[in-house]
Amino acid sequence: MTTSRAVTPPEHLTVTGARENNLRDVSVAVPKRAITAFVGVSGSGKSSLVFDTIAAEAQRQLNDTFSAFVRGVLPKMGRPDADLIENLSTAVIVDQKRLGGGPRSTLGTVTDIHPLLRLLWSRRSVPHVGHGYAFSFNLPEGMCPTCSGAGEEVTLDHARFFDTTRSLAGGAMLHRDFAVEGWYWNIYAQSGRFDMDKPLAEYDDDEWRLLLHGADEKIPVRGPGGGGKPVNMDFEGVETKFRRLYIHTGTEELSDRKKEVLARFTTAVRCTACHGDRLAEPARTATVDGVTLPGACRLDLAALAAWLPTVSDAGVAPLVDEAVGRLQALVDMGLGYLTLERATSTLSGGESQRVKMVRHLSSSLVDVMYVFDEPTIGLHPRDVGRMTALMRRLRDKGNTVLVVEHDTDVIAAADHVVEIGPRAGAEGGEIVYEGDVAGLESADTLTGRFLHRPVRLREAPRTPTGRLPVRGASAHNLRDVDVDVPTGVLVALTGVAGSGKSTLVREALVPAHPEAIVVDQSAVATSSRSTPATWTGVMDSIRKLYAKRNGVAASLFSFNSAGACPGCSGLGVQYSDLAFLDGVRSVCTECEGRRYTPEVLALTVDGVSISDALDMTAARAVAFFDSRDVRRKLQAVVDVGLGYLTLGQPLSTLSGGECQRLKLAGRLHEEGNLYVLDEPTTGLHMSDCGHLLGLLDRLVDGGSTVVVVEHNLDVVAHADWVIDLGPEGGDAGGTVVFSGRPAELLDVAGSHTGHHLARHLA
Ligand code: ADP
Ligand code: ADP
Ligand code: ZN
Ligand code: ZN
Repeated sequence: MTTSRAVTPPEHLTVTGARENNLRDVSVAVPKRAITAFVGVSGSGKSSLVFDTIAAEAQRQLNDTFSAFVRGVLPKMGRPDADLIENLSTAVIVDQKRLGGGPRSTLGTVTDIHPLLRLLWSRRSVPHVGHGYAFSFNLPEGMCPTCSGAGEEVTLDHARFFDTTRSLAGGAMLHRDFAVEGWYWNIYAQSGRFDMDKPLAEYDDDEWRLLLHGADEKIPVRGPGGGGKPVNMDFEGVETKFRRLYIHTGTEELSDRKKEVLARFTTAVRCTACHGDRLAEPARTATVDGVTLPGACRLDLAALAAWLPTVSDAGVAPLVDEAVGRLQALVDMGLGYLTLERATSTLSGGESQRVKMVRHLSSSLVDVMYVFDEPTIGLHPRDVGRMTALMRRLRDKGNTVLVVEHDTDVIAAADHVVEIGPRAGAEGGEIVYEGDVAGLESADTLTGRFLHRPVRLREAPRTPTGRLPVRGASAHNLRDVDVDVPTGVLVALTGVAGSGKSTLVREALVPAHPEAIVVDQSAVATSSRSTPATWTGVMDSIRKLYAKRNGVAASLFSFNSAGACPGCSGLGVQYSDLAFLDGVRSVCTECEGRRYTPEVLALTVDGVSISDALDMTAARAVAFFDSRDVRRKLQAVVDVGLGYLTLGQPLSTLSGGECQRLKLAGRLHEEGNLYVLDEPTTGLHMSDCGHLLGLLDRLVDGGSTVVVVEHNLDVVAHADWVIDLGPEGGDAGGTVVFSGRPAELLDVAGSHTGHHLARHLA
């Protein structure tokens, strides 16, 4: 007789001997069906362990399960550098990459709420429209015929196409296909209908109409120069012709040149037929309890979630329940201020990540390993609790949650904590703590020491030296905002997500003060060759130093010279690119990652080859090189907390927060400026916030004004001035709740920031 034994699922996923990047042969056991927070200073090795080792191996094992054919088209993923990785589950990586998608991808379509509403309207709308597809702007049956469902029309931008100070003969048409003496120009010249020497500014309405829309007749046109037999051509107006040739080309795929023309000479305006509703009649105007489908997509999510249940009857109850459930999940993530019609391409990184989290919540997958990358970015302290509640729900469904985070509230919500450290780069890469949160609190690690440290208000706030007025700001949700941004101080711009902080900065403050230095988290403009050394400009000095000491030409050390490794052209890695997947990097087999030919590698400065120099961290290089220029530039990199980056690390591997700090390093020495920073603490451990604040203080003390959009309460408390927007997000926000000193914010009723600041003070 055979006995069957239930197989108990393994309790831990284990990693043994991991060595990716700076990891020092580390081993960890991560509990399954639990929340584990990975903590430690920036550069300590969290991503190397969580993304480059655990998630990468899960992805690779998944690929191995595919057929040989499918595997053939997937990138060959190198095995992470580790001895053993066991008991992995399928990994779902929820990161801050923006949700792409063209104008047809909206929050409604990516969350699958729009299809639910389409069904609801097809069943319940008056007049009865019937088929659900009549409500889809992505199907020919439903889309507005004028704009093909885009909601907007691309039109010729007259101001950019014409120089009205000139005449037609004087080159008033700026597009080169319409240049003087060209074929198109000849139509207008030989029509005999225009005074070719009259500046367009003096044209009357009839002349303009004729020029833009032409007339229904043929014109005999001779070729350029006036020779040859005349050809009968349609007397097509400029606008008609431009539309036919460049806008309604009938092909979805435009050549790059046409795209460029479109970008230069057109603007998008709301479709005149559907007014942005995207749908054709009658679906566009059919209502459910007085609300059209496009109207519903324009309500903010919180309002829509409140209204939908009122239309519920037995026939549509399941539909309504499903839609409300999804809406509520988005509201719970602090996204209640968004609308379903919002194009996904306009969502911020943090918003995109939270939308992705909600999409997974409605999936019925179990025993999945979710990996989150700083999910609290962009989130006000008020909303962090809802984020941790969502993680618990994922866990309670039987999933494993791994989260890289600096936020103390998220760390406190974890079942298990792994701290990597003790410091960054070569001084990190070890497990310095493993256990529960209670144990971390008494552990003598950077995170343990900082976990419950109270926030402190600045003792003597600086006095503003002047003010930058913002008047009548009304973009997006802003309600005719008038505010004076004080100068010569550190200003924190606060408010819950969606309250209007970025809008105030981007649409009002910066346009009014165009000399502002805006440092955001977008990728540092780079080629695959960009590194901290090339980006800061120290590479040139280093090349010259190597040339001088060795009596050779400096060009020998550049990547496009004979000195570069021919296998990888000096990159040290080889890329295999696949159109539909991220490219895969592997270390160059020829130079083993050393970038140069053996002859060049033999040339040294104080025993250090050029390859060794590129492997130095910025912090080490400051001590090693005695050039003042090199020291000054690299010291700035150290000052912004990036001393752990090596000179040769590809910039494409930096996170958003690291990109922002690197850009800041390059702009530190411009005094008397207005600096605008977007959540500069992103990716920064609490122990490093003090350094960042010291840096910002130096900028202010040097005569600059620094405006930071921030949720981090250490920063808010340290500011000289706070401008708090809100009180809520979206339509319920967009006003200035408070403008003044942080200490006075504490008592402001209705300020979520004030309330949370008070809670965290000593
Ligand atoms: P964390 O996630 O804790 O901020 P990382 O794992 O990103 O830290 O980085 C750990 C160390 O490894 C740092 O010194 C970093 O500069 C280095 N590093 C990270 N990614 C790469 C890479 N692709 N190439 C070389 N070095 C890297
Ligand atoms: P915050 O920076 O405080 O999170 P935002 O300025 O991003 O807030 O958003 C304020 C309001 O403007 C929100 O209702 C948001 O949905 C809306 N909004 C922001 N960007 C866009 C955009 N590109 N298109 C339409 N609405 C937008
Ligand atoms: Zn339309
Ligand atoms: Zn090589």
